[in-house]
Amino acid sequence: MRALVVEDDPGIAGGLQASMRQAGYAVDLCTTLEAAWLALCVEPFDVMVLDLGLPDGDGIDLLARVRRQAAPVAGRESLPRNDLPVLIMTARDGVSDRIGGLDSGADDYIVKPFDANELLARLRAMLRRAGGRSNPVIEHGELVVDPATHTVLRAGQPVSLGGKEFALLLALLQARPQVLSKSRLESSLYGFGEALESNAIEVHVHHLRRKLGEQLIRTVRGVGYFVPRHDGGA
Ligand code: CA
Repeated sequence: MRALVVEDDPGIAGGLQASMRQAGYAVDLCTTLEAAWLALCVEPFDVMVLDLGLPDGDGIDLLARVRRQAAPVAGRESLPRNDLPVLIMTARDGVSDRIGGLDSGADDYIVKPFDANELLARLRAMLRRAGGRSNPVIEHGELVVDPATHTVLRAGQPVSLGGKEFALLLALLQARPQVLSKSRLESSLYGFGEALESNAIEVHVHHLRRKLGEQLIRTVRGVGYFVPRHDGGA
């Protein structure tokens, strides 16, 4: 999951980035509306966490600008995506500010100061709704994957995965049976400036196959990877 955090307070931004990274998000941080808009134009983010009081204006204006973008044409990615899930963070506790944020197209809001765990739970709920899934746990054959607790069971037995391995597995399961390109996977697992070896995705896929079975993830040579539909449904 690739997340954009737009926040100008270094303390809040740093804490948020650390908690979200620990939860498996690739997190990019912007401190102004202008920088955020540029980032949204070049990267297919999965979610945005947006402060309202920013040095160059009001976060609501950025949100409104994103929502005004044309809807994507099937099969062609256009950025910024106008349906990007957005959580607004605000120190303003007035009811009218919260209503204004939701009416401008925010999916949810959280009032500062907040607990990082609550923010993470709100993000999970938003992403479930965005994916049209009401069941928070993903089942696939003998696998049960819980994004909330970062646990994976294979035939009832817990399997230990690294943070990036978990994020890769989740991305492929959520997209199944669609093929995800290596570059798409890299951009959903790694933020700007995070160290990335050229064979990082191959290495993670190799580890996932070793831990979860050789047949789970298929390679489309020169294109990318996918998880096929499972016969048992899921
Ligand atoms: Ca601020």
